[in-house]
Amino acid sequence: MKRQISIEEISDGRLYKANDLVKAGCHDCKDCSFCCEGMGESILLDPKDLYELTTYLGRSFEELLENNLELHVVDGLILPNLKMDPEKDCCSFLDENKRCSIHSIRPGFCRLFPLGRIYEQDDFHYFLQVHECPMEHKTKVKVKKWLGIEAIASYEEFIRSWHMLQKKTQEIMEQKKDDSLTKKINLFVLQEFYVNPYEKDEDFYSQYARREQNVLTVLEDIANS
Ligand code: SF4
Ligand code: SF4
Repeated sequence: MKRQISIEEISDGRLYKANDLVKAGCHDCKDCSFCCEGMGESILLDPKDLYELTTYLGRSFEELLENNLELHVVDGLILPNLKMDPEKDCCSFLDENKRCSIHSIRPGFCRLFPLGRIYEQDDFHYFLQVHECPMEHKTKVKVKKWLGIEAIASYEEFIRSWHMLQKKTQEIMEQKKDDSLTKKINLFVLQEFYVNPYEKDEDFYSQYARREQNVLTVLEDIANS
């Protein structure tokens, strides 16, 4: 998501890579569920999150939209986010003990918090949001350990590709200035990366690469038309 904020205001002024140590360790989030409550539409989901949620829970994207997810427009793109329960104003995956019921497959945004990502050109760094997580006396932890994602190099390659693809999609929509085409592109991207079911027994990254190739080919045709 594009944001007009100064990184100095919200961070410790440092940029991090996966092997760096960062003061983000939150003592297993003891007695805290702050970042699972009142988050509005801010917990965006990427295609890997959908792969994890749909294959782990055995529920389709459409089924998840009934209670757990919702769609909204971010910088011109229709994207899913975790939906807050309208009565409790917390994530629907937060259990009665205020713990995450899908901890092992929690979305990338949840894994990051209180870290964020900042993109420059084709790459990104992590940064520490210093005003977001209320846990005191945080400990130092390697960024990649904090994320807890296997095959971090493949994951980060996916994050870069996904960011570039979203950027390219936005650029084409802005260039064409055609509401009907914008809607078609949005629905196509949504269908390809979120609605079409993922194979549980096949590695996510191979499935993403095929879908990405397909979408890039179509976007290229649109850009040249
Ligand atoms: S706000 Fe910090 S301590 Fe609380 S649940 Fe989130 S990451 Fe854990
Ligand atoms: S998925 Fe889990 S960690 Fe993420 S907001 Fe929901 S309850 Fe919290």
